[in-house]
Amino acid sequence: KLSVLNNMAGASERTFIMVKPDGVQRGLVGEVLRRFEQRGYKLVALKMIHPPRALLESHYEEHKGKKFYDPLLAYIGSGPVVAMVWEGLNVITVGRKMLGATDPAKSDPGTLRGDYGIVTGRNIVHGSDSESAAKREIDLWFRPDEVSNWVHTAERWIYE
Ligand code: GDP
Ligand code: MG
Repeated sequence: KLSVLNNMAGASERTFIMVKPDGVQRGLVGEVLRRFEQRGYKLVALKMIHPPRALLESHYEEHKGKKFYDPLLAYIGSGPVVAMVWEGLNVITVGRKMLGATDPAKSDPGTLRGDYGIVTGRNIVHGSDSESAAKREIDLWFRPDEVSNWVHTAERWIYE
C-alpha cells in the first residue's frame, strides 16, 4: 500500500513529543495534539504519566551538571506530562520547528513556544532533536506494545 505513493520513503520516521507539566496545567494538551494531527502526522503512542525521577535523569542525562539541571528535573517531575510518539516524513526536524526555539522569547510566533511561552524554564513542550535522540527517548518512555502500527487512511491525501 505504501509503495503506490512515491514520496513516502521516510514516512515511518518517529519522534518523541511531550507536553510538560506547565502545558498540561495550562490546558494545552489538545492544542499540541491538534497541531501535529492537523499537519498530517500520525499519532502512534500517547499516555499521561507522572514521571519518576529515574526516568527524568535518563531522559535529561545530557544536561547533568548544568546549572538548570536540578530546576529542570523539579519542573518536569512536578506533575503529569503527556508523552506521545508521532510518525511521518521529517517529523523530527519539522516537529522541532513546530515547537520553536528552546527560549520562547526567541521562538517565532506560530510555534507552540512562541505562541504560549515566555521563559525557557516553562517552555510547554519537549521534542526529540535528532534521530538517535528520538529512538532513545521513544524506547525510554514507551514499551513496544504501547506503540500502535495503524494505517492512516488519509495518507494518500497527505503524501503524493
Ligand atoms: P530543548 O531541546 O529545546 O528542549 O532544549 P535543551 O535540550 O537545551 O534543554 C532541555 C530543557 O531544559 C529545555 O527545554 C528547558 O526546559 C530547560 N532549559 C534549557 N536551558 C535552560 C536554561 O538556561 N534555564 C532554564 N531555567 N531551563 C533551561
Ligand atoms: Mg534537547
